[in-house]
Amino acid sequence: MSKFDILEELQEFQEKIVELQEKWKLEIAPFKINFDQAEIDAGAPILELAELELDISQTQRWIMELIDFVIGFKPSLKWRFINIPDLLTNENIMEWLGKSLITDRKYFKHFAEEHGIEEWIPLFLAESTFHPLLQLIAETAQPEVDRMNIIENCPVCFEPIRMATLDGGGKKVIQCPRCYAHWHAKHLQCSHCGNEDHITIHFLTIEGVPAMQIQVCEQCKCYIKILDTKQFITKLSVTLLDLSSIRLDIIAQDKGYFSIREKKVIH
Ligand SMILES: [Zn+2]
Ligand SMILES: [Zn+2]
Repeated sequence: MSKFDILEELQEFQEKIVELQEKWKLEIAPFKINFDQAEIDAGAPILELAELELDISQTQRWIMELIDFVIGFKPSLKWRFINIPDLLTNENIMEWLGKSLITDRKYFKHFAEEHGIEEWIPLFLAESTFHPLLQLIAETAQPEVDRMNIIENCPVCFEPIRMATLDGGGKKVIQCPRCYAHWHAKHLQCSHCGNEDHITIHFLTIEGVPAMQIQVCEQCKCYIKILDTKQFITKLSVTLLDLSSIRLDIIAQDKGYFSIREKKVIH
């Protein structure tokens, strides 16, 4: 299978998961977000301020639906999921939610080792199941996000900033591929360190691909991807935009730039 085929298959897989997630979103009960300014000023991600009650049996059903979909899509994966339904206890699901919201990879790695399952499975199931919750929190929080001055991380889910699109007027809009929060940013500003010096910020372009560029910052050595989606033939969700522009990540990282500040090892 060529690299292109794998990417195409991954894209189709992700598209189907987004469809499932859109369906689950409609099943989530209404909730409020307690916008406590002191908490926000202290750096609390907005998701921690949402007054959400998790419906465990609903979540269990979503995880089972997801497993059924994965096995249907790739029957060869069936045996890898064989023990998972037994692990979907109320206690584990509650813990998965908390740990996936803060992307605690160490916890999921340990969980997989402890239960003899492949490392990617619990994190994949938890993240895919809880993304719709995150996305609804982000939708509710969007007016608040629009008023904020944001650098480095998404204010809703704390995902590091890595991608922007251009709006109708050509202005840069940072997009969070995890919760879909979005906000305008200055054209010449590094989203990682706030640098606005036009000499140390520049843009890398790819020959023959005018709709995509990479903004790099020589002060912090980090980059973000900028996609002019108006030039795209197919309209993709933000998750798929991130996935389908992976070529830009490879180019940027090959040139010695990082997608995340400080943790300077990205492989
Ligand atoms: Zn986010
Ligand atoms: Zn920077």
